[in-house]
Amino acid sequence: MRILIVEDQVKLGQFIQQGLVECRYTTELVRSCADAEAAFESEGFDAVVLDLGLPDGDGLDLLSGWRRGGFNEPVLILSARDSMADRVKGLDLGADDYLPKPFGLEELQARMRSLLRRHTSVKHTRLSFGGVEMDLSAHTVQVLGKPIDLTSREYALLEVFMQNQGRILPRMVIAEKVWSSHYDVETNLLEVYMSRLRAKLESAAGRPLFKTVRGVGYQLQ
Ligand code: CA
Repeated sequence: MRILIVEDQVKLGQFIQQGLVECRYTTELVRSCADAEAAFESEGFDAVVLDLGLPDGDGLDLLSGWRRGGFNEPVLILSARDSMADRVKGLDLGADDYLPKPFGLEELQARMRSLLRRHTSVKHTRLSFGGVEMDLSAHTVQVLGKPIDLTSREYALLEVFMQNQGRILPRMVIAEKVWSSHYDVETNLLEVYMSRLRAKLESAAGRPLFKTVRGVGYQLQ
């Protein structure tokens, strides 16, 4: 699980980061709207902890832009602005929960766990795209109705594509989701797995399913 933390107060940001790392989440901490947008462009996140008062803008504007862009992972808003109006506005713009400052680490951890759990349980357990069917609860894959036998890494790799249909996925984003921090960029492990996955799925589909985007990564097509 990768969580983006957007918080301009240095100490508070580090406190949040430490709390989430304790729960074994992978985190990235940024301090401005501009840096949050840049992080968002280059990486996939499973959740966001978002401060509202930022030096170069309002966290609510970031949130509404992300939701318009189709980002639907959980967002937890943090703010000293704990008036009812702000809270309602944040929730209307698509925040999933709201934690007024000051808060304790345990409360933040509990809220994040609950958000991610709730979100995961309502996520579709069946993903389908272009003849590929993935059943996340049964852990099975079919192509045009034919069962395909995948290793656990191949399965994890396919799931990244199925959860991000139509998106061009940068190689590092895929690698981090599948291999977490254990991925060595010097190796061509991702290419090896991509060619195995292609061999298994595309022969059954009878057509190319993955597009190689030169210098960037791959796209499910
Ligand atoms: Ca702030």
